[in-house]
Amino acid sequence: MRHRVRSLVQFISGERIIWTMPRSPALYLTFDDGPTEGVTDRILDILDDYGMSATFFVEGKKVEKNWVLAMEIHRRGHLLANHSYSHCREIYDSYSRIKQEITSTNHILESITGERPRYFRPPWGVYNNAGLLWACRRLQMKILLWSFDSKDSFDDVRNYTRTNRISSAQMHDIVLMHDDNALAVEILQRELPEIRRRNMVARRLPE
Ligand SMILES: [Zn+2]
Repeated sequence: MRHRVRSLVQFISGERIIWTMPRSPALYLTFDDGPTEGVTDRILDILDDYGMSATFFVEGKKVEKNWVLAMEIHRRGHLLANHSYSHCREIYDSYSRIKQEITSTNHILESITGERPRYFRPPWGVYNNAGLLWACRRLQMKILLWSFDSKDSFDDVRNYTRTNRISSAQMHDIVLMHDDNALAVEILQRELPEIRRRNMVARRLPE
């Protein structure tokens, strides 16, 4: 049933929704809800240590607060992508609201990278919303979801017993993580050695 709903929404959206990268020989780490001082910078250092790259789905309002950090994400070769401006429930209230959330964040990111973002990740993974589908179609953006949830937002840094081990993800998986708290740092420190041992590589999404 769930698959049928997905297929239908995929058809309506004009094939704009992505859950995995099927023809790709890499793993795709994605970080939502940043950039966050004291977390995102540590993630960048760990990724550097392992020669891996990732995609950061940032919030426009947080980029305005942490401008230097957002520039650093780009400077170190990672991909900056759009996760709305304000990340509140009301963004789905109307077509004009969601479109405005996406375009304002696109402008912010474009002023850093010089390029218009191609990917939008809807907050909470909502994709069956007509206004959202129409806005992404008009803006020629892909809706980027995930195939592997690390569940790092369901746990806390002192006790990460419920998180899924990202080293068990497969090639072509898109892995959901969050850089708004330090748990992602702990997970990467634990899991990247194992990912390397399995001869897997993490890459940013293709542009
Ligand atoms: Zn989010």
